[in-house]
Amino acid sequence: MVLMSLPSARRAMTRAQARDFITSLAEANPDAESELDYSDAFSLLVAVVLSAQATDKSVNKVTAGLFADAPDPAAMVALGEEGIAAHIRTIGLWRAKAKNVLKLSEQLLALHDGIVPADRAALEALAGVGRKTASVVLNVMFGESAMAVDTHIFRLGNRTGLAPGKTTRAVEDGLIKRIPPDMLRPSHHWLILHGRYVCKARSPECWRCVAFTPCLFPLKTQILERKGEPA
Ligand code: SF4
Repeated sequence: MVLMSLPSARRAMTRAQARDFITSLAEANPDAESELDYSDAFSLLVAVVLSAQATDKSVNKVTAGLFADAPDPAAMVALGEEGIAAHIRTIGLWRAKAKNVLKLSEQLLALHDGIVPADRAALEALAGVGRKTASVVLNVMFGESAMAVDTHIFRLGNRTGLAPGKTTRAVEDGLIKRIPPDMLRPSHHWLILHGRYVCKARSPECWRCVAFTPCLFPLKTQILERKGEPA
């Protein structure tokens, strides 16, 4: 069943409901991890920059060749903007991304000895790196409980009542407030994968959702009951 416009939860979850929601996702997929291919902090940073408005699969297709030719900032600078662009032409915004990958590689060499800094302000000062990208790198590579709010997590936060908010920052703050601190870091992956494969933008599959009970989405029962009816 596909619904064109789906409502958000009418209220926010309590902390207990949020814990139940996250626990359900955790038990279903305990080893969730990033679907981007990377081998170190530099390749993760570049992959996340390239993933804006592109699927992880499409990014992985281009980074295999890109990282073979340019595994570190110095090699990326040597490859140059045209060389980078030649690798990434199949993903959205490739011209701007090629410029940013070159520039951030130059910045890493000039300011950080070619090392990706484990510091939010320093990361966000790099070309093409905003709060969300910095949060992913801090979370995945440096073990911080940073919560990166992408389109899937923004939708989930509002739809389920886990963290209602009009801006990504409001949703981020709501998640940090409600999710138990010891579950915050892996929650990033649990939520993204749940949004990508189950709680989808136009057609959430509530009938097979492990977090059905604590979810506050107003149409969840309707969708469950209509499962099986002709579209
Ligand atoms: S019950 Fe439906 S709306 Fe709620 S989290 Fe699951 S898939 Fe999403």
